[in-house]
Amino acid sequence: MSWTCHGSNNTTMVAALKRAGLDAPQPLGYGATISAPHMHAVCLELLARQLRPGARVLDVGSGSGYLTLVFAHLAARGPGAVVVGVEHISELVASSLAAARGVPWAAAMLVDGSLQLLQGDGHAGYPAAAPFDAIHVGAAAAAVPPALMAQLAPGGRLVVPVGPEGGPQQLVVVDRDERGRLSSRVEMGVM
Ligand code: SAH
Repeated sequence: MSWTCHGSNNTTMVAALKRAGLDAPQPLGYGATISAPHMHAVCLELLARQLRPGARVLDVGSGSGYLTLVFAHLAARGPGAVVVGVEHISELVASSLAAARGVPWAAAMLVDGSLQLLQGDGHAGYPAAAPFDAIHVGAAAAAVPPALMAQLAPGGRLVVPVGPEGGPQQLVVVDRDERGRLSSRVEMGVM
């Protein structure tokens, strides 16, 4: 979307998005879309308690890498932070890596391993860096992927759209309490 709507910093980018009325999914290429800005905001709010300094975060379907870098920005301010984005389209992984390398603090996180942008099937999660305090899924799943629930830390939260691709979906929130018990609820309908 940077070529249709950009700013020299975050404030001017947000102002440009508002002016253009572009609060809708935008094509990323390769058949993928970046979520509408308001959907990113909804997911960030749902994960606000988990996205503390030092958090361990998994972003499934990291696409452009934009939301993964927002997670990294929030988590990075504490020791032990690990933020992993998993995307199955290799060209998008490459372009997200190139974009992240252009942001000095993110480039430093890539070098020290606290930020990782990887190619793979994200519905399998990323056991090597589990458990996670926050798991965000941008890629709709037919059901809540069991591997992702298994990789949720006590006190952790998983946010995942469930339903057919391109059809009506439900944004499901799964919480693991401090005793390890799982509970889930539907937050809202999404597309
Ligand atoms: N939040 C992202 C956009 C998410 S769109 C951003 O900020 O750009 C959903 C992404 O999930 C797409 O890029 C799509 O290619 C990817 N995807 C779909 N199924 C996947 C899977 N099983 N594993 C990993 N990525 C997947």
